[in-house]
Amino acid sequence: MVIASLARSQGLDETQIKLDSVSAKMNGRELFDTSVLRHANKKAVFYQFAALLLGQARLVRRGSVTHAFLRRLFKRGQLVRCYTQNIDGIERTVQLSPELSSDTVRGGLTDEQCQVVQLHGDINKVRCTICAYRDGWPPEAIEAALQGRVIECPRCLDINRERSLADKRKRGVGELRPDILLYEETHWNEELVPQYVQADVACHPTALLIMGTSLTIPGCQEIVKEFARGVHQAGGRVVWINPTRPNETRWAGVVDDVVLMESDLFISALEHMWDTSEVEPHSNGGGDEESLRRQTLCEEAKRLRRRNLTSEEGWQIAFDNL
Ligand SMILES: [Zn+2]
Repeated sequence: MVIASLARSQGLDETQIKLDSVSAKMNGRELFDTSVLRHANKKAVFYQFAALLLGQARLVRRGSVTHAFLRRLFKRGQLVRCYTQNIDGIERTVQLSPELSSDTVRGGLTDEQCQVVQLHGDINKVRCTICAYRDGWPPEAIEAALQGRVIECPRCLDINRERSLADKRKRGVGELRPDILLYEETHWNEELVPQYVQADVACHPTALLIMGTSLTIPGCQEIVKEFARGVHQAGGRVVWINPTRPNETRWAGVVDDVVLMESDLFISALEHMWDTSEVEPHSNGGGDEESLRRQTLCEEAKRLRRRNLTSEEGWQIAFDNL
């Protein structure tokens, strides 16, 4: 069981500069406020931003050390599910699927079809503002969005064509919007996510890793607390892995172990302690450069471990539970 926010991108400076220049037109709160869809100028900026973010996500060919670790957990039969606040879908680069489906709601571990639940949506998808259409971005939608324009939903248009042929009155046609959650919006499949949570708690997971997030979003906090109850009932541990400390008032009795470092560092050290004979190569290979990177991260983790951890005992317990 993992709750994570693991945005990683490398060599994407040019796209980042464009993204920065677009996002500079509005602050973060404005850019992801539901009002962006109601005002033409804001909407244009939002769509441009989303299309550039999509371009950036598509450039990432290989996930981070932590993404590879999630894959490894899955292959070991230890990943109940990863719940992520990330919208980049980089989990796909390590062959973990974020495709929610009512057919696959059952306890993780055995779920070959959906290992990742994207709590805040997926920048790789668009959905209709009226009907249930949801799919990857059509090329013309990307073109339009880069120019700050929107396109109509192909399914709504098809329905209207059929109605027109049958001499029926036309219905409204929706627009394709980026499938990412704005403030105060609920998940596009708000009924299915709680079903996944329930099914996963019923698997009695013995470790909950909270990685790379300070957990400020109330909906995510509730999910974490629910999982933590299940993990504690199963005699397991809840481990917080992030450079910033958890809020003591909110997380007392929920989080057991605190590791104050980037998740990649922690994971590198953890993997170093596992039997190296079972190390699964990164999905796209890696060779000497990759092993050097992992070794460097591991050394850094050991250094931080000596200097920075709140509890050496907690660190050891965290390892022992994985
Ligand atoms: Zn539609």
